[in-house]
Amino acid sequence: MDTSPFLSQKIGHYSITAISDGRMKASLGLLSGIDLTEAGKIQEKSGVTAPDDIHIYCYLIRGQGRVILVDSGMGGLNYAGGEFKKNLFSEGVNPDDIDSVLLTHGHPDHIGGLLNEHGQPAYRNAELFMSRDEAAFWQDENKLKLMGERIQMTGSLVRRTLEAYGPVLRFTDEAEISEGIKAVSLPGHTPGHTGFLINSCDESLLIWGDLVHYPHIQSARPEVSISFDCDPAQAEKTRKTILEQAARQNLRVAGMHFGEPGFAYVSGSPERGYFLTSCSEQQNLVRGITV
Ligand SMILES: [Zn+2]
Ligand SMILES: [Zn+2]
Repeated sequence: MDTSPFLSQKIGHYSITAISDGRMKASLGLLSGIDLTEAGKIQEKSGVTAPDDIHIYCYLIRGQGRVILVDSGMGGLNYAGGEFKKNLFSEGVNPDDIDSVLLTHGHPDHIGGLLNEHGQPAYRNAELFMSRDEAAFWQDENKLKLMGERIQMTGSLVRRTLEAYGPVLRFTDEAEISEGIKAVSLPGHTPGHTGFLINSCDESLLIWGDLVHYPHIQSARPEVSISFDCDPAQAEKTRKTILEQAARQNLRVAGMHFGEPGFAYVSGSPERGYFLTSCSEQQNLVRGITV
C-alpha cells in the first residue's frame, strides 16, 4: 500500500512525486494587472487557506533506473522553505541517490537547496542541468548590476552553485536528460526559464516551473504578472501559449508553486480564462481511475 503523504502521478515508465519544501511569505500586492480585492476573491473561491503565501514544490522523477530531481527548493535560505530534505528522506530517498538535478531557473526558491552548509554540492552524485541562456544571464555581472540588489544577490548564489557543480554542469539544450524527458524553453519569468516535458507510453506531463506563482489567479487571468518576472510581457505571452496548449491537448501539468493540486489539468479558453482541476479529481470523474 502506498503510504506516501505526497502526491504522485504515473507517466508511462516514470513516477513523478511532488515533494514539498514548505512555504515562503509573499503578498498578493506583488501582482500587477489585478486589484487586491479581486485577487483575494479568486483565492477564497479556490479554497486557498493562506492566500498570500507561495508554496514550494520540487518534483522527483523515478523510473528507467533513474532518480531525477527537478529543482531543489529554497533550502531554508531567507527563513523560507527548508523542508525538502526531511520530506525526501520520508519518501525513502537519500540525496546521494539522486543522479540528476534539473533546474527550471536560477531563483533562490529553486536552487537554494543545492549547496550544503560548507558550500559543497548537497547532491554529490548528481549532474546539474540548466539552460545555457539561464546560466549566461546570471553570469553577466555587469548586466545584473543595473537590475538592482536582489537580482545581484541571486546572481552571486547562482554563480557559487554553478561553480561548486562545475565538472558535472550540463546544459539542457545540448544533453539528453533521459529517455522521453526533454527541456522546453519557457522564457519570460527569467531569460532561460525552462520546463520539462515527460513523455512515456503515450502519456505526458509538463513540469512548467514558475509559469504561475498564484496558480488559481494566473490561470483565470493569464495577463497578471508578478514582480519576480524579468520580462513580464514575454512571461505573459509564454503563459498564454502554454495554458492554451495544455487545455487543448488535455496535458497534465505540474508547477513549483501549485500548492495543493500538485498536478493538474487545465480547462478553459483564451476568451473565458482557464482553471485548474486536480488530476485525482479529473481521473475520478472522467476516467474512473485513481492514481
Ligand atoms: Zn522564479
Ligand atoms: Zn519560484
